[in-house]
Amino acid sequence: MTPAAPMQTPHALPSYLNPDHLGPWGDYLQQVDRVTPYLGPLSRWVETLKRPKRILIVDVPIELDNGSMAHFEGYRVQHNTSRGPGKGGVRFHPEVTLSEVMALSAWMSVKNAAVNLPFGGAKGGIRVDPKTLSRGELERLTRRYTSEIGVIIGPTKDIPAPDVNTNAQIMAWMMDTYSMNQGATHTAVVTGKPIALGGSLGRQEATGRGVFTVGCLAAQHIGLAIPGARIAVQGFGNVGGIAAQLFTQAGAVLVAVQDHEGSLYQPAGLDAQALWQHVQTHGSVAGLEGAETVARETFWDTPCDVMIPAAMEQQITAENAHRIQARLVIEGANGPTTPAADDILRERNILVVPDVIANAGGVTVSYFEWVQDFSSFFWSEDDVNARLVRIMTEAFEGIWQVAQAHQVSLRTATFITACTRILQARELRGLYP
Ligand code: GLU
Repeated sequence: MTPAAPMQTPHALPSYLNPDHLGPWGDYLQQVDRVTPYLGPLSRWVETLKRPKRILIVDVPIELDNGSMAHFEGYRVQHNTSRGPGKGGVRFHPEVTLSEVMALSAWMSVKNAAVNLPFGGAKGGIRVDPKTLSRGELERLTRRYTSEIGVIIGPTKDIPAPDVNTNAQIMAWMMDTYSMNQGATHTAVVTGKPIALGGSLGRQEATGRGVFTVGCLAAQHIGLAIPGARIAVQGFGNVGGIAAQLFTQAGAVLVAVQDHEGSLYQPAGLDAQALWQHVQTHGSVAGLEGAETVARETFWDTPCDVMIPAAMEQQITAENAHRIQARLVIEGANGPTTPAADDILRERNILVVPDVIANAGGVTVSYFEWVQDFSSFFWSEDDVNARLVRIMTEAFEGIWQVAQAHQVSLRTATFITACTRILQARELRGLYP
C-alpha cells in the first residue's frame, strides 16, 4: 500500500512559491519578510505580496526560416493590481524561468508604488536566445507570444514594455498584434514604442537617467563628489551605457566595465561615448581598442567609488560582496544583490541604492508615455526629463527619510514605503468576491 500523501494545511504555499526556493523569487520573499515588522496592522495583508495574483505560462510555437517548427516557453505574471493595471517589461533570454519572472513582476509592484505611479506590477518573458533568431523569426515569436498573452494584457489591464533583449521594434510588433486582434489601434497597450507610433521622447534614456539622478542624490548624502569619482559598470546596454555616459559627462571617471563577453579596466578612464558606439556596432564592450582586458572575476575587486550593476539578477552575492571597494552601489539591474550580500555591504558601510528606486526611471517615463497615448497630446523631451527628475527626487528623498527614521537600509525603506501603499489600497478595496 502506498503511504498517504501528507495533509495540506489550508495556507500551504503552492510548490512554485516555496520560500526555500533558490533564485530571484526566494530573494524577493526574504525582502518581504524584512519589511513585515514595519507594516503595523497592514501586515495582516502581507500574504498578498507573497503570491502573484495571476500566472500565465504559454507555449509559443513558430516556424523557423528553414521550415522546421520550434516551441518556446513564455510567461506573463501579474503580481499585484491593487493600485492599478499591471505594468512591467518583457524579457527575451535563454535563462528566463518562472521564478525569475515572478520576482521581476513583484519588484515592479514595489517599484511602481515606490515612485507612486498608479500601476500594479507585472512582468513577462520568453525562454529564448534572440541572437539565434533571424529578424523574421523574432517578429513571429513576438507576435505569437502577444496573441497568447492577449487574453490578459490591455491598456487598462496590463501594459508590457521593453526589458532585457527587447526594444522599440518589438514593442511596435506587440502593439500591432494586439491591435489587429482587437480590431482597433490601441497604442497604450505597450510602452517603449517608437516615437512614430506613440512612443515618448526620453523613454529610451529614462532608466539610465534615473540611475544617474538618484545616484547623484545618494552621493551627495554620503559626501561623495561625482566629479573625479571612479565608477565601475556591469552591463553596458540601455541602462548601464546611458548611466555611464551621464556620469562621465558630470565629471566621473569610468574605470571598469563588464558585460557578457568582456571585462575592461582602465584606471585613467574609458571614453563612455566611444564605448557606447563600439557596443552599438559590435554588440559588446569586448575588443575596445586601447583598453586593457581583465579576467571576469576581477571586476568585483575594481578600486572605485561607485559600482553600478546594470545587467542581471544575483550578481553581488555572499561570495563577492566582501571584495567590493566602492562606497556606493547603484542597482541599475533588477535584483542584482542577494539578501545575504545586502547584509555584508551594510556591515561594511557601503550604501546600496536598491533597484526598486534606482531603476524606476524607465517605468516612470513609461507612465508618461501611457498618459500621452491616452490624451493624444505629446510632451517635449525637456518636459519629460524635468518631470522624471522631479518624481525621482521626491521619491528618493522620501525614502531617505524613512531609512533614517527606522535606521534601516534604503531597500527596506523603499519596501516600507511601497508595501504600505500597496496594502493600504488592498485593504481599502477589500476582498471581493
Ligand atoms: N523593464 C523596465 C523595468 O524593469 C521597465 C518596465 C516598464 O517600463 O514598464 O523597470
